[in-house]
Amino acid sequence: MSARHFSRTYGEARQRFLEAAHKAAAAIESHVHPLKGAEGEEIATDTAWVGPADAKNLLIVSSGAHGPEGFSGSACQLALLGDELLGRATQRDVAVLLIHAVNPFGFSHLKRTNEDNIDLNRNFNDFSKPYPDNPVYEEIHGLLVPETWPPSAENETQLAAAMTRLAGQRNPGVSSGQARHPDGLFYSGTAPAWSNRTIRSIVRRHGAGRRHIAWLDVHTGLGPYGHGEKIFGSNPPQTLQRALSWWGCDLIASTQAESVSPRTVGHITYCAFEECPTAALTPMTLEYGTLPSPQVRRALRGEAWLAGHPDAAPSVAAAIRQSVRDAFYVDADDWKGMILGQFRALALQTINGLAATQEQGNAP
Ligand SMILES: [Zn+2]
Repeated sequence: MSARHFSRTYGEARQRFLEAAHKAAAAIESHVHPLKGAEGEEIATDTAWVGPADAKNLLIVSSGAHGPEGFSGSACQLALLGDELLGRATQRDVAVLLIHAVNPFGFSHLKRTNEDNIDLNRNFNDFSKPYPDNPVYEEIHGLLVPETWPPSAENETQLAAAMTRLAGQRNPGVSSGQARHPDGLFYSGTAPAWSNRTIRSIVRRHGAGRRHIAWLDVHTGLGPYGHGEKIFGSNPPQTLQRALSWWGCDLIASTQAESVSPRTVGHITYCAFEECPTAALTPMTLEYGTLPSPQVRRALRGEAWLAGHPDAAPSVAAAIRQSVRDAFYVDADDWKGMILGQFRALALQTINGLAATQEQGNAP
C-alpha cells in the first residue's frame, strides 16, 4: 500500500503532487526553474498550502533538497495530502505548507547536487563571510574525485586508507561542506543558488506573521536501512527542550557525537530564523537510511566525476545516474513502508506540538 505514493520519475512525482494538492483544495504555487529536466520537461519547485490563510501556526514539509532524495520526501507529501491529519491540523489553527522539489534539477536529472554542482544543504550560509575552511576535505578531495571512472584500483586503495585515517574527524568531517572545489563533493557555492533564493522567498511570504513554525526537511542516504534519524541542529536550549518533548528522546542534536550526520554550515531550514525572525521555530532534518555508506559514497563520487566530464559515454553516465538513484531511493516495499510509517508519526507529533504550545500559550 505504501508503495503507491512513490513515483518513478520527477515528472510523475510532480504531476501527482499537483493533482493531490488540487484535490485537497490546497492553494498551489509553481516556481519554474530556468532549465529543463532530464526528459526536456518543465521543472519547478511547487508549493501547496492547506489551511486558513491567517493560521497562527505553520508546519512546513520540504522534499528533494538533494535531488533524488525527493522520491521519499515527495511520497511523504503525497501521503499527507490524502490523510485526515490535515483536517485535524486545520481545526487546531495549524496550516500546512508542502514545498515539493527544493532542487528540481537534481531530482529530474538524478543528481544530489543542483545544476552547478552545489550541495544546497551547504548553500544557505552567510556569503558576506568566508565559508569555514575544511582541512579534512582538502586532504581527501583528490582521491574522492578521481581522474577516471570507474576509479583505478590504486585510487580505491588509497581512498580506503585515507577514509580510515580520517574516520574520527567529525567537525569538520569530510561531508561538512567546502567552498574551494566547485568540482568536488559537498560544495557550498559562492552565492545563493536559485533554490536558495526561491525557498527564502516562499518561507518569507508564507511564514510572515506566524506565531510558530515547525519544519520537517526530508532526506535520505545516511544511517541504518529505513530508519529515520531525527536531526536537530538548533541552538537555543529552550528550542531543544521543546523539540525533545515533541519528538522524543531519540532526537539527535547534530552537535552530538552519535549523529549519523556531521555538523554542516548552510542548512536549508535555518533560513527560517532569518526570514521569519519573530516566529518561534522548531526545525528538523529527517534523514532516512538507504544503503551502506561505501555504496552511497561511491555514487556521490561518480556524480562528481560526471559533472566534470559532460562528454562521458552515455552508458557510463546512465550507470552513474542509476547508482545515485539507488543510493538515495530503495525501491523495496518494506523500505517504503518504514519511510511513510515514521513520517506519519512525526507529522502527528508536530501538529500536536504546534497546537499544544498555542493552547497552553507557552511558546516560544
Ligand atoms: Zn540530503
